[in-house]
Amino acid sequence: MPKELFAIFGDPVSHSRSPLMHNRAFQKLGYPGCYGRYRLEDGTQLRERFLELGLQGINITVPHKEHAFEACDVLDPFAQKVEAVNTIVLREGKLHGYNTDAPGFLRVMEEFGSGKRVLFLGAGGTAASSAVILREAGYEVGILNRSAGRLEHFREQGFETATWESFEPREYDLVVNMSSAGLTDESLPAPEELLRSVLSGGKGAVDVIYGKKTPFLRLAESLGLPTKDGSDMLLYQGVIAFDLFTGGRFDRGEIESAMRESFTL
Ligand code: NDP
Repeated sequence: MPKELFAIFGDPVSHSRSPLMHNRAFQKLGYPGCYGRYRLEDGTQLRERFLELGLQGINITVPHKEHAFEACDVLDPFAQKVEAVNTIVLREGKLHGYNTDAPGFLRVMEEFGSGKRVLFLGAGGTAASSAVILREAGYEVGILNRSAGRLEHFREQGFETATWESFEPREYDLVVNMSSAGLTDESLPAPEELLRSVLSGGKGAVDVIYGKKTPFLRLAESLGLPTKDGSDMLLYQGVIAFDLFTGGRFDRGEIESAMRESFTL
C-alpha cells in the first residue's frame, strides 16, 4: 500500500519534533503515513509546494501561519476567526485549514489550573489565537509586549494591552511567555524587575517554548512558582493534527500515548 505523505513547513524547521511525533504514531497505530520536514523560505509558495510534493497534509510553523491561512480553500471556523492556520489537510483536491495550536494551549492551561487571570508576554500569532480561545473559555487575558505595533490587533478585539513602558502591574494568576524570547537566546521576555513584580503575586508560570528551560521559567522557579514548558502544547496540537490527518479513525488517547513515546527518543 503506498504511503500518504505529510510534512512540517517552516523556516527554520530543522529543530522541529513534529516528524518524530507523527512518525511514531503512524508506526504504533499501523497507519500508512510518512512525515518529513520541508524548509520553505517563501511563504507565498506554500500552496504550490504542497501540491507539487504530493502531500496529504502538513503542519505549518514560524513564520508561515498567515500564508497558510491564505493558501486554503476551506477554513475551519476557529482558523477563520483567528486568521492563522497550522494544519492543512487535502480532501477531494481542496486544502482544508485548521488551527490546532490554540486548543492545544487551552488544554495545557486547563490541566495546569491555578486560576483564570492570565498575562501574556508577547503579542505574535500564537498569542493572538491563544488569547481568543482562552477568552471563549472564560479566562481574562492581558497582553504585555515589548513594542506597540502588534498590540493594536489585540486592542481592537477588546483585550487589555500594554507595552513595558505603559504597564501598570496588577494581580495575575498565571504569567505566560508567548514570545520567542529565550528560544534561541538567553533573553527574558520583559525587564527582570517587571517580571519579578508580576510573578511574585502569581500562582504559576507557563512558557510556550519547548526543548529547553528558558530564562523566564528559571526566574519563575527561583521565586518558588510551579512552571510548565511548551512540550505538552506541542504534543496536544500534534494529537489534534494527527486526528485530522487520519480522518478521526483513532482514539485520541492512543494517538497521544504513541506520540508521547517520541519524547524519550
Ligand atoms: P511571532 O514571531 O508571531 O511573535 C513573536 C513575539 O515575541 C512578538 O510579540 C515579539 O515582540 C516578541 N519577542 C521576540 N523576541 C523578544 C525578546 N527578545 N524580548 C521580548 N519580546 C520578544 O511568534 P509566534 O507567535 O509564532 O511564536 C511565539 C513563540 O511560540 C515561539 O517561541 C514559538 O516557538 C512558540 N510556539 C510554540 C508552540 C508549541 O507547540 N509549544 C506552538 C507555536 C508556537 P515584538 O512585537 O516587540 O517584536
